[in-house]
Amino acid sequence: MFNRVTSFCRKVLNLKDNERNFSELVPLVLPRDEHGISRKDISENALKVLYRLNKNGYKAYLVGGGVRDLLLDKEPKDFDIATNATPEEVRKLFRNCRLIGRRFRLAHILFGREIIEVATFRGHHQSDAEKNTSSTSSDGMLLRDNVYGSIEEDAQRRDFTINALYYGVDDFAVRDYAGGVADLKDGIVRLIGDPETRYREDPVRMLRAARFAAKLDMTISKETEAPIQHLAHLLKDIPAARLFEESLKLLQSGQGLNTYLLLRELDLFEPMFPLLCEHFTEDMSSKTEQMLEIVLRSTDKRIESGQRINPAFLFAAMLWYPVTIRAEEISFESGLSYYDAFMVASNDIIDEQVKTLAIPRRFTAMIRDIWLLQLRLGRRTGNRAFKLLELPKFRAAFDFLEMRGEVEGGQPEELANWWRVFQSAGNDSRKTMLQDLNKASGNKKKPRRRRGPTRRRNPQANKEA
Ligand code: ATP
Ligand code: MG
Repeated sequence: MFNRVTSFCRKVLNLKDNERNFSELVPLVLPRDEHGISRKDISENALKVLYRLNKNGYKAYLVGGGVRDLLLDKEPKDFDIATNATPEEVRKLFRNCRLIGRRFRLAHILFGREIIEVATFRGHHQSDAEKNTSSTSSDGMLLRDNVYGSIEEDAQRRDFTINALYYGVDDFAVRDYAGGVADLKDGIVRLIGDPETRYREDPVRMLRAARFAAKLDMTISKETEAPIQHLAHLLKDIPAARLFEESLKLLQSGQGLNTYLLLRELDLFEPMFPLLCEHFTEDMSSKTEQMLEIVLRSTDKRIESGQRINPAFLFAAMLWYPVTIRAEEISFESGLSYYDAFMVASNDIIDEQVKTLAIPRRFTAMIRDIWLLQLRLGRRTGNRAFKLLELPKFRAAFDFLEMRGEVEGGQPEELANWWRVFQSAGNDSRKTMLQDLNKASGNKKKPRRRRGPTRRRNPQANKEA
């Protein structure tokens, strides 16, 4: 697939990242017979957009993850397109088009459930003439970036070399402006330009470096990794809604466990999950850490086998020990019953977590349901077990109980075993299981008080006596 990595790439790779001057370089062009990308691997809708833009005289290329993943023989998650048509010009060509974004103005072309994202080539953003279309904050963060430019400039504005590869349907060639083909071949995640400047412009690029390294099993180049620990704190300035979206891409990419481990190593986990980091230990042995490993491994497995995953389940598991520990503290300090303390702790923990990751309400409601069911799964007597079984969140709560059993052993493990048997048992066996349970709990109970009207003492009687 990469049988012609020319001296161009070698020349580029021999320079340090910040010594490269991409504007002076001509692209490495891999013609159709020198790469493995075939039109049949590309979404029909993306092809439609590319052809229509070309037919109307615009340049248009598939770029980013689409090209990168196809060159790696992986199935791309989505297909992004870059063009020299402005967003307004794109809209004129497609009825099913919506313009979105302030920071980056983009065209979304909707084909049923598939969205093809079309971005106009981005230019440099620093010159005076362009001040009104791009702006940075006092610490170098890009607030708006809507300066349009040439394809060469667009390539330099992209984050990593492996993401700056362009595939066109006019000549079916791959254009490489930043040495991405060689980096793909060598398995290197390398930022384009000076790493510190690029991270300051957009701190999320640090998370993306970790994501691509873990997801593609690649190594972050030395220069690209060097400033990360020192700049990780910049993530605190990123809006919580954007960090929530990123957290899903990081943890639900199919390589969630490796990504989490790498994020921890690079000090990037803390800005997203400060609550969890309070429970981190040197040897990764706390219950929170064990649960993180179990739930991320299971999420990765489910993705691999094409099963559905739910972010609420993931977050419920990740935050479970912080919430129970908080509940115990509250109950101890305030004298509230454990149940009431648990309710207060659930609110506290969710309120604190959404400050850094804006988990939408529909998910926080589900997280609470899954947590609360953990308290209810132990109460099975009478008709309760049958009622619990009917609940829409029962399956999630049971799966979660099993994970707790794995971490804690003891009562959660026994309870999970009971529910596993109960679910697969026939009706008669279920009834027997419940009778046994009722008997056992009846034996444990204090003798019940006799029913019937209780005679009330006359409260005045003593006084009068
Ligand atoms: P995937 O879609 O598989 O997660 P991707 O590389 O396609 O990976 P997207 O978020 O879809 O990632 O972005 C598409 C392209 O836009 C990237 O490949 C990159 O070239 C560019 N890009 C995205 N985010 C940034 C950023 N923060 N800074 C610079 N360029 C970016
Ligand atoms: Mg993409």
